[in-house]
Amino acid sequence: MQKVERMMKALTSSGICMDTTAAQPYLYQLTHQRNQLLAQVAEQRGGQLGRAEVASAHFDNSQDDQAQIRSERELEFALNEHELVALQAIDDALKRIQEGVYGLCVTCGVSIAPERLHAAPQALRCVACQTTFESTQTH
Ligand SMILES: [Zn+2]
Repeated sequence: MQKVERMMKALTSSGICMDTTAAQPYLYQLTHQRNQLLAQVAEQRGGQLGRAEVASAHFDNSQDDQAQIRSERELEFALNEHELVALQAIDDALKRIQEGVYGLCVTCGVSIAPERLHAAPQALRCVACQTTFESTQTH
């Protein structure tokens, strides 16, 4: 909570940007998501694999026995990686709020639809660019 206030102060004193007021709900949402994520990580580091069921969806494609045996270790690794990516995305979005460019597509520069930001406040691209971006990623 203190961190939010400090961030808000930094925003209002920065002098930049029309959009800080509009970005405030997202700032709260992102900060909340970040706290939740960190709380989850803390819980897992406490020795619990409580989110194993959620994460097991990632391993649906590994049907062979070897994968089954390895899955528990890989699960932990995958979760960490996933969490890091998620955290990075949230931090990037928070940084973009501070820079006054939040809500603008990083690829084409248009304003991202508010509905999209409400659903995914850490979104960096408009739907069109995200679709293109994802289609260029090889899995
Ligand atoms: Zn775009």
